[in-house]
Amino acid sequence: MLMAYKYRLYPNVEQRIYFAKCFGCVRFIYNQMLSDKIEYYKQTKKTLHNTPAQYKKEFEWLKEVDSLALANAQLNLQTAYKNFFRSPETGFPKFKSKKTHNYSYTTNNKGGNIYVSDRYIKLPKIGLVRLKKHRDFDGLIKSVTISRKPSGKYYVSVLVKRNEIEKLPKSECEVGIDLGLKDFAILSNEEKIGNPKYLSKSESRLRKLQKDLSRCQKGSKNRNKCRIKVAKQHEKIANQRKDFLNKLSKRLICENQTICLENLKIKEMMSNKQISKSVADVSWSEFVRQLEYKAQWYGREIVKISTWFPSSQTCSCCGYVNKKIKDTSIREWTCPNCHENHDRDINAAINILNEGLRIRTAGTAEIA
Ligand SMILES: [Zn+2]
Repeated sequence: MLMAYKYRLYPNVEQRIYFAKCFGCVRFIYNQMLSDKIEYYKQTKKTLHNTPAQYKKEFEWLKEVDSLALANAQLNLQTAYKNFFRSPETGFPKFKSKKTHNYSYTTNNKGGNIYVSDRYIKLPKIGLVRLKKHRDFDGLIKSVTISRKPSGKYYVSVLVKRNEIEKLPKSECEVGIDLGLKDFAILSNEEKIGNPKYLSKSESRLRKLQKDLSRCQKGSKNRNKCRIKVAKQHEKIANQRKDFLNKLSKRLICENQTICLENLKIKEMMSNKQISKSVADVSWSEFVRQLEYKAQWYGREIVKISTWFPSSQTCSCCGYVNKKIKDTSIREWTCPNCHENHDRDINAAINILNEGLRIRTAGTAEIA
């Protein structure tokens, strides 16, 4: 099993210069190979199979950086092509821009040329770079990705091949989860899990900083300072959110043997601009991803039910389908058939659980 561990890096000046060269070379080789492929295809209608090594004569400075970093850029380009041919809606490979302020390169461990000690990581060509090791890991390092965020901070993500995690003892509990906007998640056991307050606090601070940035004159020193502040705040929010989602998914996986969810068509929802911000904010897709891989590690089961299942409109007591509930402003309702009172979201979560258990027994479930 592969796992990634991310650490903050504190490179010295010389190392920062080296990293900048790597980021630049990786971007350069990616763009150069892409543009040559496009040109070749235009002229011959055939695919050009080019490699970074072919460019080292003409662009000698490519030799100064880690050749595995260049090889990984080539792999990334190949993957982008493959993805495009497999599902054209992902779009044709794009040129990498300098302007994102998001830079990275990946290199591989070959015969122990990368290792992590208590305070340092050893990297090819550059040697020991100081890092903050806030947690340990076991296993063999496969590759590392060094990145520089728009905030100016450096990180390393260490990909490690680990032994299997010990499965958790079986649990008797099963839960249905309705993912919402007001509350982040509503469980069939009537628990409502709100979006954490610190996130909305951080987000309102971000909005203020963005406003400051928009007032700064383009190209001014002040503007760059503001840009870094905005980037730092973005990074903070992303970390806080990931932390919240990790803790919640871990808890739900520990507590429950089976977790039933709606199969969200996040991509389609994202295309609807109005709700896209909220959807992105509450990070449903990341949450589902975490639940799925943790379920696999710990021996739990995720059952996804169809997007078209009327989870909100169905009475969880008698099965009556109330079309009026399509109106999402209705938060509470009484079933006209059995007169049961329902909280909209809890009722939906119970239905999701029941439907999940039904399809699992029927053996037609999409099991992650
Ligand atoms: Zn009813």
